[in-house]
Amino acid sequence: MNMKRDPVKAIFDLKQFGEYGDVNPSITDSATYTFMQAKTMTDVFHGEQEGCFLYSRHWNPSNKYLADAMAALEGTQQAWVTASGMSAITAALLQLCNSGDHIISSMTTYGGTFAFLSNYAPKFNIKSTFVDITDLEAVKNAITPNTRVIYTESMTNPMLQISDIPKLAALANEHGIKLIVDNTFTPMIIQPALLGAHVVVYSMTKFVNGKNDCVAGAICGTDEFINSLIDVNSGTAMLLGPVLDPLRSSSILKNLHTLHIRMQQHSRNALYLAEKLKEEGLVVSYPGLPGHKGHGLMKTMMNPDFGFGGMLAIDLGTGERAARFMELMEMHDVGYLAVSLGYFKTLFSNSGRSTSSEVPKEIQDEMGLSEGLVRFSVGLDHDIEATWQRIKHCLDMME
Ligand code: PLP
Repeated sequence: MNMKRDPVKAIFDLKQFGEYGDVNPSITDSATYTFMQAKTMTDVFHGEQEGCFLYSRHWNPSNKYLADAMAALEGTQQAWVTASGMSAITAALLQLCNSGDHIISSMTTYGGTFAFLSNYAPKFNIKSTFVDITDLEAVKNAITPNTRVIYTESMTNPMLQISDIPKLAALANEHGIKLIVDNTFTPMIIQPALLGAHVVVYSMTKFVNGKNDCVAGAICGTDEFINSLIDVNSGTAMLLGPVLDPLRSSSILKNLHTLHIRMQQHSRNALYLAEKLKEEGLVVSYPGLPGHKGHGLMKTMMNPDFGFGGMLAIDLGTGERAARFMELMEMHDVGYLAVSLGYFKTLFSNSGRSTSSEVPKEIQDEMGLSEGLVRFSVGLDHDIEATWQRIKHCLDMME
């Protein structure tokens, strides 16, 4: 194994069994839990007794299995699983920030996150500054005495920029700020906490689950942070209540055990298509291509066994050309014209008019998000050469 730490081994070593020796942990289908002694219940309520379950908005055994596996994946002390990626992001941010605090965020970030930071968090007097996260000087210059969080995505959505996690973490530590990294695009490939991030958040809706059959999220961090999130008096997760349903936790846990194989295939297929699209003379963004601005940096941070990930983007110049190309690709069985990512079939969408449409046009322009950008989440196709022929046919029809 050619990697700094084997996340697959970390998950498999957990050896999680069900109560009857079931190879899959039993599903705990219960909102509440009984106690033999009243005092034990009081002690659990006040966090003075561990190892007991009280109420499923706080902890549920099925959620704990998945959370433990996510913590093992990331190399963090603990994790907590949420009902969506957005609830993981918002709970983590609201736990760290109070009224009057300030967040520095990558300008290129998932549209929902951008909307939360720019439109919603100000209701609580939490302001954000958006910067080019690859410009460390800009990040440094944005720090104010009220800055509590630097927020970024390991590989940003949809521009596929690479965040320099060790340098951002060093900057954060120097100023007593927390670094939160959304690792949704690069599970297994990048382990942000091992590179210095204080909190790692996920939309498990995407690659982690990989089936597009549910929406889910995770927050990975220290014992102290996760315990603060579920504190009965002041925890954002406990009080806003975005807990994941345990039936979903158990299905995601099973899918997590094939994540490494899926990531390898997503990456292999995406690299193949990126090279072919480039050869056609198209404007291609894929961090696995040596010409990509973040290629060298990503190599210093990644577990090379899993490749450069399944996300790539091409720029077709105009929204109209993007729309026509996507319709042709859907018609010719390349994949589906759909938002989201990490599915076993290829998905494509026009970011500026879908998952980044919350970002105002002038900021889209500032970050270089072209109207014609088509983002692909490359699927697990067995015969990627045949897929390429179908894409090529669609390109030819665009002439
Ligand atoms: N983070 C990233 C990078 C995303 O792409 C998304 C959704 O597309 C989210 C977070 C939000 O996740 P969810 O839809 O599970 O709430």
